[in-house]
Amino acid sequence: MPINPNACPGVCNRAARAAWTSYDQALADHAEAMTAWLATPGDDRGQRPEPPEQPTIPVPLGDPVWDHRCARLIRAALAEIDDTAALLAASIDGHRGSAPAGPNGVAAPSHLSIVNTLDELYGALSMVEGQWREYRRYPDRPRRARGTHARTLTVGWLLGELDDILLHPGSVDFGLGVLGWQARLRKMTKSDPVSTMSPIRCPRCSERQVRRKDDGYYECACGRLLNQSEHDAEYARQADEHEQQEVGAS
Ligand SMILES: [Zn+2]
Ligand SMILES: [Zn+2]
Repeated sequence: MPINPNACPGVCNRAARAAWTSYDQALADHAEAMTAWLATPGDDRGQRPEPPEQPTIPVPLGDPVWDHRCARLIRAALAEIDDTAALLAASIDGHRGSAPAGPNGVAAPSHLSIVNTLDELYGALSMVEGQWREYRRYPDRPRRARGTHARTLTVGWLLGELDDILLHPGSVDFGLGVLGWQARLRKMTKSDPVSTMSPIRCPRCSERQVRRKDDGYYECACGRLLNQSEHDAEYARQADEHEQQEVGAS
């Protein structure tokens, strides 16, 4: 049995959707157990399997698509996306020169992935703008060069239309997409190449290009991996070494 078809598709129903999914599984398990129970001769039968209970979690309904809370969350997420994207764009601009470049001066992959992600984001946002303009018979989207300014204009335009967009049944993908972009960009700012750079020299290649990764490991551009305690031991050892050099020099 599916969750109420008028349920808000947003995060407010995450727990209810999970509860209904396990309920479906429990129903299937129960049907199987009943079949086995019925096929067992009377004397050998144990207790009749109990059917599962329907979830009682309240299910906020869409009005008509999203409930008010999720509509507000999507609005906040859309505005945040533009701010975070601008921050990410600035982090590349600000560090393009000093960023550790790979062989042949090719930009570090993390920078490239920021550029690609922002490009993908702009593509997704401007596609929705284009679709909504067409649907509402607005004039075509003005041609804009890709970049921070164009993205801000598109986000501003979408925010202005958002209340109406979110009333459209086709806005489910868009709304969930906006929330997904919010999460993805937040994660990228956390793995910002500047803030994840470790001060240690790599024990293999002795370059300072060791970064903390999302999984908690540290990795040098040369490929050397260190876990947290190896990294900390290396950090302590290099600090000692540095101190001894200072003492030796004085
Ligand atoms: Zn909701
Ligand atoms: Zn290395």
